[in-house]
Amino acid sequence: MNSQTFAPAPAVTAAATEAHYDAYVMKNYARAAVTLVRGEGCRVWDDRGTEYLDFTSGIAVTALGHSHPAWVKAVQTQAAQLVHVSNLFRNPLQGELARKLVQQAGPGRAFFCNSGAEANEALIKLSRLHGYNTTHEEGKRIKVLVAKNAFHGRTFGSMSATVQEKIQKGFRPMVETFAAGEFNNLQSFVDLVDDSTAAILVEPIQGESGVTAATPEFLVGLRKLCDERGLLLLLDEVQCGLGRTGKFFGFQHYGIVPDALSMAKGLGGGMPIGAIWVREPFAEYFQPGSHGTTFGGTPLACSAALAVVDTIEKEDLMGNVRRNAPAWRNALQQLVADFPKVLKEVRGLGYMVGLGFHADPAPFNAKLREAGMLCPLAGNNTIRLLPPLTATPADLAQSVAIVRGVLAAA
Ligand SMILES: *Cc1c(COP(=O)(O)O)cnc(C)c1O
Repeated sequence: MNSQTFAPAPAVTAAATEAHYDAYVMKNYARAAVTLVRGEGCRVWDDRGTEYLDFTSGIAVTALGHSHPAWVKAVQTQAAQLVHVSNLFRNPLQGELARKLVQQAGPGRAFFCNSGAEANEALIKLSRLHGYNTTHEEGKRIKVLVAKNAFHGRTFGSMSATVQEKIQKGFRPMVETFAAGEFNNLQSFVDLVDDSTAAILVEPIQGESGVTAATPEFLVGLRKLCDERGLLLLLDEVQCGLGRTGKFFGFQHYGIVPDALSMAKGLGGGMPIGAIWVREPFAEYFQPGSHGTTFGGTPLACSAALAVVDTIEKEDLMGNVRRNAPAWRNALQQLVADFPKVLKEVRGLGYMVGLGFHADPAPFNAKLREAGMLCPLAGNNTIRLLPPLTATPADLAQSVAIVRGVLAAA
C-alpha cells in the first residue's frame, strides 16, 4: 500500500506539504512557497496562521470572495441532494443557469463545460460549424483570426489560438488554422480576412498578457468587419466576464453584441464550471452528437454558479465595483506618480487591474507576499490586482497601503 494513501489532509504539517509537492506533484507551475488552508472574504490564511489580503482570488475565480455564506449554503445543500446526473437527463439548475446567462448576454443559448480552455474549444468548434454550414464543405472556411499576446488556454485548440512562444514551445505543430493580428489594430485584422476566414476570437480585456482593454474603435470595428464578411465574432470573457469590470460581461462596455462568448473563471465562484453563450441562429449549429462533455452543467456546479449570479444581483456587486473602482484607481495612479522609476502605469477596468512596472515585477511580487498580499503576475511586466467583487473601499485601500509600503521600503 502506498504510504500516501491514508495521510489525513488536515494533519499534514507544513514541512510535509513541501516535501509532498517536491516529491509527487508535477513541476508545471512556478508556485510560491505558501500553503493556504482557509479563506474568508478577501482574506486567506496559510498553514502557519499568517493572514494575507488575497487579490489573486484564485486568478479571478472566487468572485464572491472565499466562503461566501450564500455560496456555501447553496453548495452544501445541493451536495446533499443531487451532485451529478450526466447530460442524458435534465436537471433544474442547468436550465435555470442557462436562463440567467441568456438574460445577461441576450437571446441565445448556453452550453456548459468545465474550464475556460474547454469553453474556447467549443467556440472554435462553433467556428468550424459556421464554415461548414455556409460552404457545405469541410476544410474550406476554417481560419480564425486571433490577437497576438492573447491567452485562450492550454488545450490544443486554445493553445493554438494563443500565439505566444512561451505557451507553444515544445508542443508544435499547432492547429494551423489561426492567424494573429495586432490587438487594438483593426487594420491588421482587416488585412487577414479572406474567403477561408470563419471567425474572429479576442478577449475584450486581455488578461494574462498584462490587462489591456480593447479600444472601442477596435472592438466596434471587429463587429462591423464580422458583419460585412459574414464572420462570427467570438469573445473570450473567461477572465473579464461575470461582473469583474463592473458590467456582467466585458463586451457591455462597448455597445456591441458578439455572436458567441466563453466564460469560466468567475462563473462558479471556485467550483470548476465553464460555459459558452451563442446567439441565434448560430446556437442551432450544435445538434445532438456534435459536442458534449460528461461533467458539463452538473447540479452541483450549477448550484455554485447560480449562487454567484444571484449574489451579484442581490448584493449589487457590479454596483460595488463601479462605485469603488474609480477611487482605488486614483490611489493607484498616485502610486505611479509617486514612484515613477518603478511603476509605469495602471491598466484595466473595474476590479480587473494591471499595475505596469518598468522591469520584471516578480521580485516585487515576492515582497508583496512577505508584506501580506497575494497577487498574480501577468505578461508585459504586470502585477494583476483581482479582488473579489465583494471587496470594500477599506479592502482596496489596504491593497494600496501594502503596495506603497513595499515601494517606500525599496
Ligand atoms: C484563464 C483563461 C483561459 C483558460 O481558462 P482555464 O480554465 O485555465 O482553461 C482562457 N481565456 C482567458 C481570457 C483566461 O483568462
